[in-house]
Amino acid sequence: MESSGQLFVLSGPSGVGKSSLREKVRKEFPELAYSISHTTRPPRHGESEGKDYHFISEPTFLAMREKGVFIEWALVHGNYYGTSFEELRKQLNEHGDVLLEIDVQGARQVKDRFPQACFIFVLPPDRETLEKRLLQRGTEKREDLKARLENAMGELSEASWYDYLIINDVLDEAVEALMSVILAARYRRQAVLPKVRDLLQQK
Ligand code: ADP
Ligand code: 5GP
Repeated sequence: MESSGQLFVLSGPSGVGKSSLREKVRKEFPELAYSISHTTRPPRHGESEGKDYHFISEPTFLAMREKGVFIEWALVHGNYYGTSFEELRKQLNEHGDVLLEIDVQGARQVKDRFPQACFIFVLPPDRETLEKRLLQRGTEKREDLKARLENAMGELSEASWYDYLIINDVLDEAVEALMSVILAARYRRQAVLPKVRDLLQQK
């Protein structure tokens, strides 16, 4: 997949604030595209098809996975999630920089294919705060909430291989941190070298 755009991967336990951060950062950087995943999870109140996710049935997901539609996929809290090649290619071609908000299993698959992508992990200030945020969001049933909290500790232990770790305590400070990471990545050698080569070719 040839593109001069940067790929950003954002992970972190459920309820840590990934979507809140993403929404705020995309207001500041409207050119940063977001790749919409496919999922077998039912839509939450207020979520809509094609905006938050492509909501599909499990048989459809498994058939798509069999066909090799997904660049990465994972079973998270009992539901399937995946990023399609087509969606990612479209966003990279149309916008350049693309943000993926995916779990740690998916992030590892992306790392194998795109080692040069920028991997960012969001952490809570402490466990209690994470529980409080998940409860306060009020989108999960009791069993689902328990699964998300249990999974959170396993996910946190994966933070060590990510490039940047952002603690989301005060939201606006975490937004600033994420914006700084994105800006810095845009000046990495690999992002700018194609322009330098063009410059060198000018007579
Ligand atoms: P995720 O996308 O990681 O599952 P959300 O962005 O949905 O998490 O955030 C979970 C809940 O926590 C939401 O109700 C959100 O408004 C709240 N939240 C996120 N970040 C903060 C923060 N820094 N301080 C207080 N509440 C927050
Ligand atoms: P939620 O159900 O709260 O929207 O998402 C649950 C988890 O699935 C989050 O950690 C989220 O980042 C992850 N997720 C969302 N889309 C994808 C995807 O396309 N691939 C993978 N691997 N994880 C995803």
